Amino acid sequence: MNNRLYGNLIFELSKEGRRGYSLPKNKFGQYEIPQQLRRQEDAKLPECDELTVVRHYTNLSQNNFGVDNGFYPLGSCTMKYNPKINEEMAALPQFQNLHPLQPERTTEGAKEAILMLEELLCKLTGLAHFTFKPFAGAHGELTGLMVIDNYHRSCGDEKRRKVVVPDSAHGTNPASAAVCGLEILEVKSTAEGLVDLVDLERLVQLEGENIAAMMMTNPNTLGLFEQQIPQIAKLIHDCGGLMYYDGANLNPMLGVCRPGDMGFDVMHINLHKTFSTPHGGGGPGSGPVGVREGLQQFFPNVSPYQGNFAVMMRALAYIVTLGRNQVKEVGPLATLNANYIKESLKDVYELPIDGLCCHEFVFDGLKDKSTGVTTMDIAKRLLDYGYHAPTIYFPLLFHESLMIEPTENESKETLDGFIDVMRRIAEEAKNDPDLVKSAPHHTPIGRVDDVLAAKHPIVTYKQMINDNN
Ligand SMILES: *Cc1c(COP(=O)(O)O)cnc(C)c1O
Repeated sequence: MNNRLYGNLIFELSKEGRRGYSLPKNKFGQYEIPQQLRRQEDAKLPECDELTVVRHYTNLSQNNFGVDNGFYPLGSCTMKYNPKINEEMAALPQFQNLHPLQPERTTEGAKEAILMLEELLCKLTGLAHFTFKPFAGAHGELTGLMVIDNYHRSCGDEKRRKVVVPDSAHGTNPASAAVCGLEILEVKSTAEGLVDLVDLERLVQLEGENIAAMMMTNPNTLGLFEQQIPQIAKLIHDCGGLMYYDGANLNPMLGVCRPGDMGFDVMHINLHKTFSTPHGGGGPGSGPVGVREGLQQFFPNVSPYQGNFAVMMRALAYIVTLGRNQVKEVGPLATLNANYIKESLKDVYELPIDGLCCHEFVFDGLKDKSTGVTTMDIAKRLLDYGYHAPTIYFPLLFHESLMIEPTENESKETLDGFIDVMRRIAEEAKNDPDLVKSAPHHTPIGRVDDVLAAKHPIVTYKQMINDNN
């Protein structure tokens, strides 16, 4: 297809001496570059005509998949609806052209916008202060744990070095605790997928005086609402620990209930998840940390300047355009969409934890285990039908996890199309399992060898030539 015609790399299309156009020589914009800074040889740049270049990059861009191409049911990452107007607001020249070192008196507007966002986040979370310095959720977790650590140390309570983390937690929770120099105490989940209070009581009895904090996500990574937060918070507070809320899943609670009211002392928000910044491919992010009154003096300085400003401006635009009343509809609509898909598919896909889910839910592969078709195969086959794959093999609680999360603004027709294809794949698994197991068949590249790709990634052009020879 296109790829063959236009080449995989622009260097492969290069023909010596070929040009798009060249500007006539003139003396404007010419600089005398000191001899010692000049190249000895010309840079090895591809030489192509303009149409070849434009087609090459246009075709490459079409090999990509994103929310602007089609449905993107990825779970856990809370890929929300990202209104285009937020991009325009963040790209206003007054925002975009700011420089962190320009005179302070010229940045008052930007600072006011940050304060506005802080005020709105305080209202939405029930916490008293936010720092916007962290650049991602995981960075926020580390910052929040440093706040907690600083607080305990300020009380002379230096032996509190342990953090309680549920076994369903996102991997960044134990990782951040470890980076902060803290140890992890894992608390089990019940068969219903919620924190096991009996197990937590046991841990508190054993380790109470060493517990610095407990980290929780709510709704948790199974998309279930933790219903015993007040009891959990009491257990942790009574033994002297603080409650940390991982706000990555904040969106179903927006405008409905607040972590601050539930007993959480410190939290982070993934602005790029809950407040509309497209972040496929790992960035950009912003993980502001909020604290209860009295903890703000323990904010560490984790980055220079003010954090990821453009992400903050998208968040501000998102909250302001929704307004007080509509912000309450985000959660219920996302929840309705998730439950609609779940109920429409649970006769063919294994639903390990039944009941009402929040904004996301988890299947444990196909119901019919005799086909040999795995979650990986289903994810690959979805690509053939023009859908992005859901999150797979996370959470780790099940062998064949397939985690689905629609956003609040997907239409019923889109959801029905996805349900249709998921049912068709289940049918194929029964009648023609090899077709599914060898998918994808219609993508530019077939199934890659994951292990080889992870262990021996070829990331440079040169290396590729060498390998081919
Ligand atoms: C995404 C996520 C994180 C980590 O956030 P990043 O911004 O990717 O660093 C932490 N916890 C949960 C529950 C998440 O979904």
